[in-house]
Amino acid sequence: MQKPLEDYEKMQPVAMERIRRAFQKDRLAHAYLFEGAAGSGIEDMTRFFVQLLLCQNPSDSVPCGHCRDCRLYLSGNHPNAAKLEPDGQYIKIDQIRELIYRMNKTGFSEGRKVYVIRQADRMNASSANALLKFLEEPEADVTAILLTDRLHAMMDTIQSRCQLITFRQLPREQLIRELAGQGVTESMAATVSMLTQSKEEAKALAEEEQFGQARKTVVKLVEVLNANVHEALLLLQTDWIPLFKEKEEAERGLDMLLFAYRDIASVKAGLEEMLTYPDMKETWKQIALQRSFAVLSEQLQAILTAKQQLSRNMNRTLMMEQLVLNLQEG
Ligand SMILES: [Zn+2]
Repeated sequence: MQKPLEDYEKMQPVAMERIRRAFQKDRLAHAYLFEGAAGSGIEDMTRFFVQLLLCQNPSDSVPCGHCRDCRLYLSGNHPNAAKLEPDGQYIKIDQIRELIYRMNKTGFSEGRKVYVIRQADRMNASSANALLKFLEEPEADVTAILLTDRLHAMMDTIQSRCQLITFRQLPREQLIRELAGQGVTESMAATVSMLTQSKEEAKALAEEEQFGQARKTVVKLVEVLNANVHEALLLLQTDWIPLFKEKEEAERGLDMLLFAYRDIASVKAGLEEMLTYPDMKETWKQIALQRSFAVLSEQLQAILTAKQQLSRNMNRTLMMEQLVLNLQEG
């Protein structure tokens, strides 16, 4: 479903203005790099832009919605619109080759061609080089839109061929308010809004039983760690490890733990707004009383180190046991 224009303008005024102005003044680049996280409107606005580029009768930089091109695009069948995303972990060179072949093919349909590459940072060297060559010899009527939420992972040579448009992060408060309006408790909304900017994803998480369990376990580990290291190690075996089994889950568990310690540091600094676990404020205060900022900072560092170890595929049980001991020593 297409969102009304005002929604985009409210959501991402700067990005929207740049897109529409370039179109109006006929100063379109051959390639765009859209940078933004899921939930920032990046996907919606990409669809808007592609449709605008294909439409036969746009008015005031808005696609008409009725012409043949609009209809074909909206039904997902426009011959001149292509999209690509990683096949497995990477975008493979064959995918890029096929895309280039399709973009170079003439006579299929007149007019502009547009391709979108999602998670464009996931190109290996050979795919990136193949694409780079294509970007360096732009066809007049081909527009590229590359999407990424990890700008730092994009090859510089590709970045330099693209016009960068950044989709700013949406205010977390707004997301919390919207979730609360949909029946999510404020404390749960505060937690899930730290893990995703997408309202749909946040709501789904908030309603997931396993996530509720994960939240409880994280809070419990912090509490137990403050009292008894043996109990903490036991909790790892009984609750934590089974709950955060897959790598992604383990990563999320560490993030949630990190946010808990950040909360404690915030409370100690007298910042009590916008906590990740607002329902735990009194407990955090008690813990904060017993810790210096130096210790809290070491504990945060210990969690960040564990995250790095996780990304290097260290044994997860070992990694967590080490972390618990480090947090305990503090
Ligand atoms: Zn149209």
